[in-house]
Amino acid sequence: MSASFPTDLIRKDVADLPTYNAGLALDQFKAKYGVDCLAKLDSNESPLGPSPRAVQAMQKAAAGVWRYPDAGNAGLRAKIAEQANTTSENVIFGNGSEDLIGALFRATIRPNDHVVTICPSFGLHEFGAMMFGATVTKVPFNADWSFPVAGLCDALKSKPRVLIFSSPSNPAGPAISEQEFRTILAAADPATLVCFDEAYVEFIAPDQQFDALAILAETGHPGLILRTFSKAFGLAGVRVGYGVATDTQLITAMMKTRNPFGVNALAVAAASEAIDDTAHLARVVAQATSERDRVAAALSAKGFVCAPSQANFVFFDTGAPASVLVEKLRTKGVLIKAWQEAPYENWARVTIGSPDENDIFLNAL
Ligand SMILES: *Cc1c(COP(=O)(O)O)cnc(C)c1O
Repeated sequence: MSASFPTDLIRKDVADLPTYNAGLALDQFKAKYGVDCLAKLDSNESPLGPSPRAVQAMQKAAAGVWRYPDAGNAGLRAKIAEQANTTSENVIFGNGSEDLIGALFRATIRPNDHVVTICPSFGLHEFGAMMFGATVTKVPFNADWSFPVAGLCDALKSKPRVLIFSSPSNPAGPAISEQEFRTILAAADPATLVCFDEAYVEFIAPDQQFDALAILAETGHPGLILRTFSKAFGLAGVRVGYGVATDTQLITAMMKTRNPFGVNALAVAAASEAIDDTAHLARVVAQATSERDRVAAALSAKGFVCAPSQANFVFFDTGAPASVLVEKLRTKGVLIKAWQEAPYENWARVTIGSPDENDIFLNAL
C-alpha cells in the first residue's frame, strides 16, 4: 500500500457506491458461525443443479481451455435467436447477465442522466447506473404488491434514458402482467430504452407468461430483454447470461462495451447443452414452484406476511430488522438474505431449496 493513496484518484461516483451485498460463501459460513451450512438459501441458486448433460459438456471442453473462446459466441447466439424469433445480430452473451447490465449502462449513460427502476430492486439496476453518474428514481411497489404501474408511468414523464426492472421482481417475487407491461410502454418516451430483466422468467405460471420482446418490437420501443443461466438452469458458478434487443445498434454498441472474451469456453459448452435439456428444466421448475407455494403457505401459517412470488424465492416481513432473524437462523445453519434497502429493512428473502432444505429452514424458524 502506498504511504498516501491519492484522495482524488477514485471517481466520486464509484467511491460513493455501497459494496455489493453478495451472499456468504460456504467456507466463510463455517468459519464464522462454527456450524455447517445446512440450507444455503440466500442466492436463488437451483437445488437440482445444472443438467447432467451440461456438466458432461464442461468436462469434455476442459482439455480445450488453452484456446480463447469464440468472442462472437456464434453458436449460442444462433440458438437463442431461433428461440426468440430474431436474428443473431440482436443477441448478446455476457459473463452473467450482470455483465450485460454493466455493458448497457457503459454504452448509454452520461453523467446526470436519469434512470427509473422499482423498489425494492435488484441492486445493480440502481448502482450500475449510478456508477456512471446517473440519478436513479426508484418507484415503490404498491402496498398489495401489484406492480406500481401508475407510479412508473408518472416517473416516465421525465423521459429517462433507461427504464430497468425485473419481472418476476427480485427480491419481491411478483411478475408483471402483459397488460401492465403494455400500459407502461405506452407511457414511455420513444427515446427511453426499456431493459426488462427476466432472470426468473422460467418460474412464471405458463398462463401468465408473455413475449416481452415481441411487444417491445410491436410498440416500437428500444428494448433489451435480459436472461440468465444462473437460476433455473443451475449454472451460477460458470457465469453466463444473455440479452436480446429490438435493435441491432444496441447490441453492436454493447459488444464494444462488454469484456470481449467474457463468456468462457466452459460456460459456452454448459449453456449450449442446458438450453437443449428441456426435461431437466421442467423438473427444476416443477419442484421450485410447488415447494415455493408450500414454503409461502407455511410462512403465512406462522404469521409472516409474504409477497406473492412467481419466482424461486419468497420475500417476507420478519416483523423486526431482518438481520435479527437472519443472524439467529445462521447459528442454526440456515442462510437467507436480510434485505438492506429502505423501507424494506424488516424483510428477508428466502430461496426455495430442496424439500429437505426448506424443512430445515421452516423448523429453524
Ligand atoms: C440473479 C439475477 C441476475 C443475474 O445474474 P447473473 O448470474 O449475472 O446472470 C440478473 N438480474 C436479476 C434480477 C437477478 O436476480
